[in-house]
Amino acid sequence: MKGLAVIGKHKVGWVEKQKPTAGPLEAVIKPLAITPCSSDVHIAWDDAIDLSGVNDRILGHEAVGVIEEVGSEVKDFKPGDRVIVPAITPNWERTPCQNGFSQHCDGMLTGMSFITFKDGTMAEYFNVNNADANLAIWPDELTVEQALMIPDMVTTGFYGAEMANVRLGSTVAVFGIGPVGLMAVAGSQLSGAARLLAVGSRPNLIKLAKEYGATDIIDYHDGDTVAQIMDLTDGKGVDAAIVAGGNVNTIGEAVQVVKPGGTVANLNVLGGAESIPIPLAAWGAGLSDKTIKGGFCPGGRDRMEKLIDLVKYGRVDPGKLVSHKFYKFEDIEEALLLMKNKPRDLVKPAVFLGE
Ligand SMILES: [Zn+2]
Repeated sequence: MKGLAVIGKHKVGWVEKQKPTAGPLEAVIKPLAITPCSSDVHIAWDDAIDLSGVNDRILGHEAVGVIEEVGSEVKDFKPGDRVIVPAITPNWERTPCQNGFSQHCDGMLTGMSFITFKDGTMAEYFNVNNADANLAIWPDELTVEQALMIPDMVTTGFYGAEMANVRLGSTVAVFGIGPVGLMAVAGSQLSGAARLLAVGSRPNLIKLAKEYGATDIIDYHDGDTVAQIMDLTDGKGVDAAIVAGGNVNTIGEAVQVVKPGGTVANLNVLGGAESIPIPLAAWGAGLSDKTIKGGFCPGGRDRMEKLIDLVKYGRVDPGKLVSHKFYKFEDIEEALLLMKNKPRDLVKPAVFLGE
């Protein structure tokens, strides 16, 4: 079978491999749609996962598909089932799962077994570990676009609202309105945010941010972001800040705009610096009761089924994130390069592979 792989340092290309098989608890999936992610770009070109010593690791972690084969111990799924596959497929046997952190089941960030431990989803077939605990049936009510945004964009963005402790009546700031930030806006809206300030500047993203519930748009072209948020909130700041864009300095900006007792939740993959500068005055010399969190999105079947229900019952439509559509298997490469080059009108590309 064919797959799009990391074939050398900062080199991506097509490889031919054996079709994967299913161990007792596993499933083999034929993807029906795939979407590349900025994480794939970070892995391929920015060394986000150490793949030295690994030959031709196939990229991709966001897909929906049809089950081709299941292992002898898989009880709830069978060949032919259409499934949503979470980007994070923990090994649920490991003890960190019992503490609620399945994303780190085998050590930090190891819940994403795609690419980290085995080939990813940008292939004609891919393997899913712990199939009963990780797969979720894709109901007919969900379009391909909607289903495809659930494995990572929805779970990650919503995790921002959860980590930031957004409640009924909260004032929330979301830094960055790419696809994850937009889902953080939608998740905050669903969690009961009253006022929702979204920081971004691209017109198509601003339009979507408003549709997903943003009440105010902060454009950094109009001046200092922190000053604009403080002005709009009469100097009080916000209850919750979600960081879904920017860089290490954005965490410091978020600390400046949250009230004492508020929470900063980071979803961004941070890099390019040794540490995060936190302005001490804004952090009350360390006594502000402001919480700073950063978390990796939860995966697994129960999480997927809950998110599927939110779409199925009309609470959110993540399908609107898909801005660029492709229809051939080979187009996966072009879609990935689109994600790398990020044209101004890009939200999320998707490759539809049909039945
Ligand atoms: Zn992703």
